[in-house]
Amino acid sequence: MEKDKIWLLKPNMGGGELKYIQEAFDSNWIAPAGSNLAFFENELEDYLGCKQVVALNSGTAAIHLGLILLDVQLGDLVLCQSMTFSASANPIVYLGAVPVFIDSELDTYNLCPIALEEAIINCITSGKKPKAIIAVALYGVPYKIEEIRYLADKYDIPILEDSAEALGSSHKGKMCGTFGDLGVLSFNGSKMITTSGGGALIASSKMLKNKAIFLATQARDDAPHYQHSEIGYNYRMSNICAGIGRGQMEILNEHLQLKKAIHNFYLNLFKHIDGVSVFEVPNSNFSANYWLNTILINPLRTKGINREMLRLAFIKENIESRPLWKPLHLQPIFSKYTYFGKKNAESIFENGLCLPSGPIITENEKERIQLVVNELFNCR
Ligand SMILES: *Cc1c(COP(=O)(O)O)cnc(C)c1O
Repeated sequence: MEKDKIWLLKPNMGGGELKYIQEAFDSNWIAPAGSNLAFFENELEDYLGCKQVVALNSGTAAIHLGLILLDVQLGDLVLCQSMTFSASANPIVYLGAVPVFIDSELDTYNLCPIALEEAIINCITSGKKPKAIIAVALYGVPYKIEEIRYLADKYDIPILEDSAEALGSSHKGKMCGTFGDLGVLSFNGSKMITTSGGGALIASSKMLKNKAIFLATQARDDAPHYQHSEIGYNYRMSNICAGIGRGQMEILNEHLQLKKAIHNFYLNLFKHIDGVSVFEVPNSNFSANYWLNTILINPLRTKGINREMLRLAFIKENIESRPLWKPLHLQPIFSKYTYFGKKNAESIFENGLCLPSGPIITENEKERIQLVVNELFNCR
């Protein structure tokens, strides 16, 4: 009999979600409007500290609206981390703008400040200053916040912070999502919390928040009839989904603890295996949510065992694992765009593997994972 699948990530409901959905039904607010939305946004604002949050129907929509608010237009250049999910960059292309891809550095797997500055100087020299920097907190790890902010200020280019994977992560005690000129969260099924599908834009002023809500609800002018003087979008989160979000906020801290425990499990598991390293934050200024645990395998030190062999060994036992995000400049659809940097992102992609990260993994599942690892690497 086939064993139950151990998923890379799966949603985990806290129990409060149904109560808030019921409230939406009872008040008949089955729409992208209603009190769950305001409550969910307020809870996020409290959690993140003092920013303005707009709940939307996806993280991708949040990136799209964010770029619009940063005035990205046809033909503009947007700098974007190469090693990330395609959704970080797709909205650049929706707008007819042009992505410029940047390598990662090895401490955080995020934007390499050296490659970023090289790209900025190159763009400016060729007559076109980039309109925005998309900085990702990949796998919930904050990017080099100070270095990237320094460059953004030096060249006066705003940051759109893609913290889709980084709810609950922080840098020097300040929450991810709040470092950019605008920030993005995702509540897709696999993220730190889920609304079944959803996202949020984090803005720095009430004015920007109102503008984002205006654009996300079809850009309706103030008139008795429907009147439009701008192109609008249907991007607002539904009141039902916001109800799920309220329930999930009640267990966000629990998710953070569970993820941390899974991280410790992997640290222990690979402690004695030469050539395999579990990703850890560079220093105590960085706090990661460990949304997804990743390892790097150096086959020169594992007697030739590489990440693909481990992945296949996991599959045999019905355990899901996955290579890291394939750098976007290597993706067929994006390969025509310019890329700055060395081959860090490429080598992380070649040698890295994402491991099941819950948020709930049972003791029995941990044993199954442990068995595969120990057998392959021949420990006992
Ligand atoms: C999930 C994700 C997104 C997109 O969020 P959706 O809510 O799925 O649209 C964007 N960027 C990164 C890095 C992500 O992981």
